[in-house]
Amino acid sequence: MNDAETTSLRFTGSFTQQEPLPEASIAAAHAVLQGSRLHRYNLLPGEKGEVAFLEEEFADWQGRSYCLAVTSGGQALQIALRAAGVSRDDVVLTNAFTLAPVPGAIEAAGGRVQLVEVTEDLTIDLSDLSEKADMTGARFLLLSHMRGYLADMDQIMKIAREREICVIEDCAHSMGASWDRIRSGNHGHVACFSAQTYKHINSGEGGLIVSDDQELMARATILSGSYMNYRSHGARPGDEVFEDIQYSTPNLSARLDTLRAAILRPQIPLIDERVSRWNHLHDLLRNELSGAKGVALPMQKSAGRRVGSSFQFRLPAFDASDCADLVVRTKNAGLELKWFGAPQPHGFTSTHASWRYFERQNLPRTDRILSTLFDLRLPLTFSAKDVILIGGIIRECIEDD
Ligand SMILES: *Cc1c(COP(=O)(O)O)cnc(C)c1O
Repeated sequence: MNDAETTSLRFTGSFTQQEPLPEASIAAAHAVLQGSRLHRYNLLPGEKGEVAFLEEEFADWQGRSYCLAVTSGGQALQIALRAAGVSRDDVVLTNAFTLAPVPGAIEAAGGRVQLVEVTEDLTIDLSDLSEKADMTGARFLLLSHMRGYLADMDQIMKIAREREICVIEDCAHSMGASWDRIRSGNHGHVACFSAQTYKHINSGEGGLIVSDDQELMARATILSGSYMNYRSHGARPGDEVFEDIQYSTPNLSARLDTLRAAILRPQIPLIDERVSRWNHLHDLLRNELSGAKGVALPMQKSAGRRVGSSFQFRLPAFDASDCADLVVRTKNAGLELKWFGAPQPHGFTSTHASWRYFERQNLPRTDRILSTLFDLRLPLTFSAKDVILIGGIIRECIEDD
């Protein structure tokens, strides 16, 4: 790579810098630190803790009866799978394009991962889903709404209903998205969210589980490690539901702490507004790239409202060396493009070929899509001008090629 090959444009922003925390989060965190009662069950008599408030407020915002806060999105998935009844050697269907904690949670719950192909729109392939559901007799689907794109949820729920499959939604990228005006996470039986820094609310780490199923949520609560303190939880099932479950369910110790809950609570009322701003940035970048030579852009089906907190495009005519070259060129111009076709995973780009703790599965369609798929974050610290510049750099680097 010599200088003559790099673009004339240069971006100097940071792809990993999130917005400042709200003042209210900082003040609440400060108050918690001063009190030093950081454990969720370290409460004064009659006190309802920050974690219980968070559970109530998130259940309310999401529109579900029950919510449980845990340590991470990945732990939320594992606990939701177990609470939904996954046990040793149960087959769990899941998208072949997802993040490592998804197959990791299935493995940790003792399930067998069955990967399902994805489409050019980065959503699960419905005909492969029906086929593999029939072939394996699976009773569980862990559905990742990858990169905030929603598949046709009416079709998915129909496929699931016809086969009595329990749907666990992974909403790590779709907090605030909706299908047919129903929030992502309210279609399946249970849904999981992440509050990790790169997701839609930020406490560093954190996870949330929501459902209307009281027994599932009672099991999830005991699994999270409630030390028989479930009565101090918010948005929880009644005492009677815990009667047997508290003795028959193991403790996996994955509680959320008071400090993180205090940081998260003021962010919940901001989610919908954040989604609008993300989608605005996403639309601007989409406009910049929609006419560019050889670029294929995933489409959200019209009944869905996606969350554009990151941006994806494919270059179907590129070979591996063109793709590797594009990563270098754009990097020289200040961009952090993730490419899913590299032979070795970097950072967050691991694919099913890197998950070698279960047998390799044959996914030609997914492999073809991932081989020329690029991805970049769109933090809300980017301005409209930033995003237009990013689009210009990508176009220049592609069209130079
Ligand atoms: C981030 C993420 C999760 C959960 O991640 P944690 O880092 O454990 O909070 C789950 N699924 C997907 C698709 C993700 O991107």
